[in-house]
Amino acid sequence: MNDRIFVTKSFMPPMEEYVEMIKSLWQNVWLTNNGSLHNELEIKLKEYLKVENATLLVNGHSALTLAIKALNLKGEIITTPFTFASTTHAIVNNGITPVFCDIDPVTYTIDANKIESLITEKTSAILAVHVYGNVCNVEKIEAIARKYNLKVIYDAAHSFGITYKNNGIGTYGDVNMFSMHATKVFHTIEGGLLTYKDSSLISKLKLLRNFGISDEENIIESGINAKMNEFQAAMGLCNLKYIDNEIIKRKNIYDLYKKELENLDGIDIKILQEGIYWNYSYFPLYVDSNKYGMNRNELSDLLKENNIFPRKYFYPLTCDFKCYKNQYKCDVPIAKDVSNNILVLPMYGDLEIENVKRICKLVKDKKR
Ligand SMILES: *Cc1c(COP(=O)(O)O)cnc(C)c1O
Repeated sequence: MNDRIFVTKSFMPPMEEYVEMIKSLWQNVWLTNNGSLHNELEIKLKEYLKVENATLLVNGHSALTLAIKALNLKGEIITTPFTFASTTHAIVNNGITPVFCDIDPVTYTIDANKIESLITEKTSAILAVHVYGNVCNVEKIEAIARKYNLKVIYDAAHSFGITYKNNGIGTYGDVNMFSMHATKVFHTIEGGLLTYKDSSLISKLKLLRNFGISDEENIIESGINAKMNEFQAAMGLCNLKYIDNEIIKRKNIYDLYKKELENLDGIDIKILQEGIYWNYSYFPLYVDSNKYGMNRNELSDLLKENNIFPRKYFYPLTCDFKCYKNQYKCDVPIAKDVSNNILVLPMYGDLEIENVKRICKLVKDKKR
């Protein structure tokens, strides 16, 4: 009961099922480079996510980096600073300038109404993030992209399994990136997946994830090593059987948090968006210190003193990172405010109900 509780805990399939799955590897000794488990997982994920094309990669960050490279983007990319380091690093490491746009105060995703004023002749794309699985204003973003002939990439790292208006979330934009890192709702230990409509990207991404090697004597792209191995794929195949159940368990926890905390003064819980099947990946609270009587950092410390470890996702904003500070313009008052006042509470299928209640009691009582 008083063990340390972290913001998330990786889902583990029954050990026997994983062991059974990897037994074949001792027979065929094919550990990576398009192994049979890898290929099976790629097909199954395509079905599960309801997408036309999918490419598996070793992790989400490499996937995002290669998405930008595969689309030949240059110049500037309009993006959000309210995200994980990966999104901004992927832009910068491709030699592109990130142009930071403010976020919407309700969904915390890029504010589509503020994108147009940031477009210049150098803009090549919009890289938006479905923060906590909240769906970006995809209609507006894609209308802008059409008007100005820009590409659209969605960082869908938080969005595994989400459908919007009955479409897989990975069917929007030009390319979508799903992370399957151990801390995400669905994982392959480390892992990434790109989904996209344009089937000419299939061969391009296959090359890019394997050093650009077309055959022994022909290396035709300056690719990287971003291949998923068979042990990762085996974990994914095992976990896929449990993902629906995991999401149901998370929903129950979400419902309990909501019931306990929704009428608390100064604590703002995000309402679910209409028309989406959500994955309950995170439980963020916005703390209004004037009304709540304690600020976000104080609440975080109070929980930590009680062995509960929430996270300030996302603080600092990526444009305020030491490696980027004062290098790029970052006029984003709403993102700054949210980043200073947001706290993400523990959320995972196996989080015990008593612990959810205990966390809620601490948030309600505010007693040290
Ligand atoms: C987790 C995450 C990533 C990176 O994914 P990895 O699989 O850990 O490389 C990128 N963007 C966001 C928003 C994330 O949360």
